[in-house]
Amino acid sequence: MAKRDYYEILGVPRNASAEEIKTAFRRLARQYHPDVNKSPDAEEKFKEINEAYAVLSDPERRAAYDRFGHEGLKGMGGMPDFTTIDFSDFADLFSDLFGFGGFGRTSSRRARSTPRRGADLQLQLDLTFEEAVFGTEKEISITRDEICKTCNGSGAEPGTSPSRCPTCNGRGEVRQVRQTLLGSMVQVSTCPTCNGSGEIIATPCHTCRGRGLERVTRQKIVTIPAGVDSGTQIRLAGEGQPGINGGPNGNLYISINVLPHKYFRRRDQDILLDLDINVAQAALGAEVEVPTVDGPAKLRIPPGTQPGKVLRMKGKGVPHLRGNGRGDQLVVINVAIPTHLTPEQRRLFEQLAKSLGSEVRPQERSFMDWLKEALGG
Ligand SMILES: [Zn+2]
Ligand SMILES: [Zn+2]
Repeated sequence: MAKRDYYEILGVPRNASAEEIKTAFRRLARQYHPDVNKSPDAEEKFKEINEAYAVLSDPERRAAYDRFGHEGLKGMGGMPDFTTIDFSDFADLFSDLFGFGGFGRTSSRRARSTPRRGADLQLQLDLTFEEAVFGTEKEISITRDEICKTCNGSGAEPGTSPSRCPTCNGRGEVRQVRQTLLGSMVQVSTCPTCNGSGEIIATPCHTCRGRGLERVTRQKIVTIPAGVDSGTQIRLAGEGQPGINGGPNGNLYISINVLPHKYFRRRDQDILLDLDINVAQAALGAEVEVPTVDGPAKLRIPPGTQPGKVLRMKGKGVPHLRGNGRGDQLVVINVAIPTHLTPEQRRLFEQLAKSLGSEVRPQERSFMDWLKEALGG
């Protein structure tokens, strides 16, 4: 059977605008929708209108059709398959055509049987500073739904089975015919008795009370890799809510929160430590012992170390989460001026004061200082 011209089907000229095509399609779809039009050829016509619209509303397909006719579309991988067309578009269209919630029949049937992935779950996990640096194993408890083992998810007590919903006769939706200015309109809505499942459970499962799911809390050991930081997310695939209609389970996402440390701060892979040294150590230099995440370690302070100086301890930082090596520990030096002196210290400082003299030295301003000031900080 020869295919009819798409422009003819929609009753628009070949140079019709996208808007004109849409308007024509809406008018015809309203006229021939099988829910409204009970004439025997309405369904066929409706399909034809949809097909014409699917082509002419798509600029690429329309161009191919304009140049080569129906043949041109075959070259593009054939006609659009109506089962793969984005139904959300149709749903929109139909909701404003008929004033009901979408392409009722299609959406409820789809909702009933289409496999869908379960919802994801989120969990926050607190770690100590060291646990985040070196990695650890943690026991977490996951509270989620699982398919009820008593009824295998059917919701019906073993030995009984769900029966067809008498309200909707198993269709999962109810239809009401309304008289409107546009003629008879069919309003389709989810069946209130069975919530769209098409089935009712006369004898609910005693374990899950008919839900088909049971709430369980599972303990699980999670391996936390070395180098995680606050905000790192760890994904446990398939540990979320169960899939629907045989779909895959959702995932569980663990968000890491690193608790503050008494001494250490994190800056990416480096660890910062503020260290007070005394005047003599700053002036003369010293070898001191400082905390690191690996335990106490020796740090050499060079003679003449100024306050604010940063000394780097190589490889004492955080392991790279992906890859090799570790960051450094950066020790920020603060020279602590004593506030209480023993008589002995006072005597020595006085001696030192005499030796150093009374001269003070205004500091020359460096270019960096000017720049900082200019930038307001
Ligand atoms: Zn059950
Ligand atoms: Zn029902």
